[in-house]
Amino acid sequence: MGINLKKSMVATREERLGSIVGYTGNIKNLAECSLCGKLKDKGRCFSQSSSCDAGCALSYLANIRDIAIINHAPSGCTAMASGTVTNHTQLAAKRGLPYNSVFLGTDMSESDTIFGAGQGLKSIIKQTYERYEPSAIFVGTSCVCGIIGEDVDSLIREIEDSIPVPVIPVHCEGFRSKVWATGFDAADHAILRGIVKPPRFKRNMINFKNFNEGARKEIMEMFGKLGVDTFFLYSNTTIEELSHISEALATVSICGTLSSYLGNGLEQEYGVPYVKTINPLGIAGFEIWLREIGGIIRKEEEVEAYIEEEREKYLPKIEMVKEKLKGLRVVLGMGSSFAFQISRVIQELGMEVVYVASWHYDAVYDNGEAPPHVQYLAEHTPNNFKVSIADQQNFEILNILNTYKPDLYLARHGGTTVWAIKQGTPSIFMADEYMAYGYKGTLNLAYAILDTITNRSFEKNLSSRIELPYTDWWYQQDNTALYEGGELKNA
Ligand code: SF4
Repeated sequence: MGINLKKSMVATREERLGSIVGYTGNIKNLAECSLCGKLKDKGRCFSQSSSCDAGCALSYLANIRDIAIINHAPSGCTAMASGTVTNHTQLAAKRGLPYNSVFLGTDMSESDTIFGAGQGLKSIIKQTYERYEPSAIFVGTSCVCGIIGEDVDSLIREIEDSIPVPVIPVHCEGFRSKVWATGFDAADHAILRGIVKPPRFKRNMINFKNFNEGARKEIMEMFGKLGVDTFFLYSNTTIEELSHISEALATVSICGTLSSYLGNGLEQEYGVPYVKTINPLGIAGFEIWLREIGGIIRKEEEVEAYIEEEREKYLPKIEMVKEKLKGLRVVLGMGSSFAFQISRVIQELGMEVVYVASWHYDAVYDNGEAPPHVQYLAEHTPNNFKVSIADQQNFEILNILNTYKPDLYLARHGGTTVWAIKQGTPSIFMADEYMAYGYKGTLNLAYAILDTITNRSFEKNLSSRIELPYTDWWYQQDNTALYEGGELKNA
């Protein structure tokens, strides 16, 4: 099942990509199952709460300036609004830009679940336009609105002629998918269907899909040396700018999970090449990625000169820190792309990856190919390390950390590092997606790891004063055997 922009509802990752959230095995088995189509989702009889794709879709869209988001949902589903808007306001302020987007909820009530809330939604859409005059209105759907069968598409059709800006449904009911990254696709689907226009001409510009533009300056400088402009999305973009992304030379990304839908969608609909290599984290990732871009924009020589320059500047320093990191044992818990990309960087820095917990796994991406970073890792890893796919199941992470007793735990979701630290494991929360970007990022990550493992008093002191809720019985359970027969045992 591919990308179908004729349909209002995006197909879930499970339907399109064979994505899973339950698996234990190892990196070589995962890569092989991905290639031969044998990957199956394993069941759990116990599960902790996780994130939902509505949160993912709507908070990602809220990156765009001067829009309105209306979450057609009970108030609890919109609890993320204030944090999301604060975050994006600060990101805009960092660039000296105004951020006027609003994030609203329809506050569906118990009686709405019986009688429907369609008239209320139409009225809220109208009032939102009159009060805020946004440049587009995105209407998100929730579990409740999905369960009662609220026909949001028809409701929007009934009033869209009376609103002078696009009003676009975003189908992101939390229960539709166990993979919260489906929310990224729902957001991209809404942009591709409702905002992007056919190209007027080709522009000398690269689309860069990311989260927070943390390395904006150096990336713009780098592409500037190659003679092209960079357009970061969606952070701090406008609807007018997004309507022209079909005119770019190529789409590139910091994360395969984040970009599969938009990148492949732009390629499918408008012929904008999507760079599908491993992502630019660490040394191999950066060089493979940049060379691919160089080929597309016909700047091969300039790319080689840039790589040479960076190597000279950073490699000697990286080699020096590597000496101090050699042999450290690392466990990682991250989203599907970063988990395996950062594992590659850890191995480049001379450390041993002992276990990777990936929050989900896509058997293939939207171009029908297995994720390249997993195939690369399976071919190049010195050890066939263990892998589990678990949607941020913290009880499993603490079992893994207790079993493998690593020197370091790296995670991209703050909630799990807190628990690891309370357990006494030195941890780094890799919030910034650029923490291992290119040579400079690789060096900075190496320094951050060195700092963390050199002074372990914080973890020692904290763990000695905290009693965790996990029993010895739980710590003695073998995490790798939890899924035998397809069911999670003993939990
Ligand atoms: S959309 Fe569903 S899963 Fe998401 S917050 Fe609301 S009720 Fe929870």
